[in-house]
Amino acid sequence: MLKQTTDRYQDIRDAVRALCAEFPDEYHRKIDEQRAYPEAFVDALTKAGWLAALIPQEYGGSGLGLTEASVIMEEINRSGGNSGACHGQMYNMGTLLRHGSDVQKRKYLPKIASGELRLQSMAVTEPSTGTDTTKIKTTALKRGDRYVINGQKVWISRVQHSDLMILLARTTPLSDVKKKSEGMSIFLVDLHQAIGSGLDVRPIPNMVNHETNELFFENLEIPADNLIGEEGQGFKYILDGLNAERTLIAAECIGDGHWFLDRVSKYVTERVVFGRPIGQNQGVQFPIAESYIEVEAANLMRWKACELFDAHQPCGPQANMAKYLAAKASWEAANACLQFHGGFGFANEYDVERKFRETRLYQVAPISTNLILSYVAEHVLGLPRSF
Ligand SMILES: Cc1cc2nc3c(=O)[nH]c(=O)nc-3n(C[C@H](O)[C@H](O)[C@H](O)COP(=O)(O)OP(=O)(O)OC[C@H]3O[C@@H](n4cnc5c(N)ncnc54)[C@H](O)[C@@H]3O)c2cc1C
Repeated sequence: MLKQTTDRYQDIRDAVRALCAEFPDEYHRKIDEQRAYPEAFVDALTKAGWLAALIPQEYGGSGLGLTEASVIMEEINRSGGNSGACHGQMYNMGTLLRHGSDVQKRKYLPKIASGELRLQSMAVTEPSTGTDTTKIKTTALKRGDRYVINGQKVWISRVQHSDLMILLARTTPLSDVKKKSEGMSIFLVDLHQAIGSGLDVRPIPNMVNHETNELFFENLEIPADNLIGEEGQGFKYILDGLNAERTLIAAECIGDGHWFLDRVSKYVTERVVFGRPIGQNQGVQFPIAESYIEVEAANLMRWKACELFDAHQPCGPQANMAKYLAAKASWEAANACLQFHGGFGFANEYDVERKFRETRLYQVAPISTNLILSYVAEHVLGLPRSF
């Protein structure tokens, strides 16, 4: 086959692929069917140090850039796995790294790097405010050496498989701040201490095998020392981390895109109907070729976002555009893959329907396609603001 392989970072790819090969399709299929957590897979990735890629060496990580980290996530998805089970461990710690105190960093980062502690969760979304984050209603009120948390969150992922969670809450009422983005703060919540002592976690059964939950806070007390950075600046800190999150998820979508393209190319070459391989029909070839073009185009924007991020340059437009293009391209590839598997695409044993569900998520979360378009329209093109 003449398929061009311009894969960069082949050494990382080979090593991650070798690890992923120990967890074949059957493993991920069974975990999906049981709606279980891929504990053994996440443990293996942690032990091999892959999830600590972005943690600086002084804290026990490997101190790699976003570029290398994105290759790790891409390879997990490209191998048939789903980084959604563990990608939080890779980027949530960035908030602590950039804005935490020295004491917090020394206390938590080495343990996150070794896998002793999981910081897999970040609680931002609320049921009544959705994407309009500055309207969040969860409050954190200072009482002596503690903050008391009340409110509700929704769609908070991996809480049942994490030790720590970053929480965004209002510390000053919206009516008392000059800018709506002010007056929110972020906290590190010790989930083992919190659950059952003011935090109630209710799982949300959903379309993907993605462990995600509703959270109810009722007078949850957390030590004031768990505030990250300055009180009132939390929204800015959360935004700081989003470019990394979006770029990594773009890479995951590119991994998915290649997985779909590899599977469908093989299938249409082997499947004979009307006396010839179905892939000989241009009606079958063209959507597959088109998807390949789109995945590769998205990949260019992903490298651009990584390059700017690693050079500490502004990369908001590129990170958002990479996520937009990659999520769209992987979804098109998923559609082509399902379509040309015919009825077999719907059979669990082909894994297409599982990956199809998994990749669909990325047009809604962690940010919807419309909100990216709105960001580009207003912040890149300077069009009038709509909200
Ligand atoms: C499986 C899963 C896991 C998640 N994990 C987490 C997590 O770990 N932590 C967390 O904090 N959140 C998480 N989320 C939440 C996710 O980030 C939100 O669902 C997403 O940002 C969309 O917000 P919403 O669901 O409130 O939709 P809404 O804000 O209600 O919007 C619904 C739709 O309306 C459209 N829309 C809304 N406003 C506008 C506008 N102004 N202009 C144009 N279109 C608009 C968009 O298309 C959007 O998709 C998760 C969600 C899912 C489904």
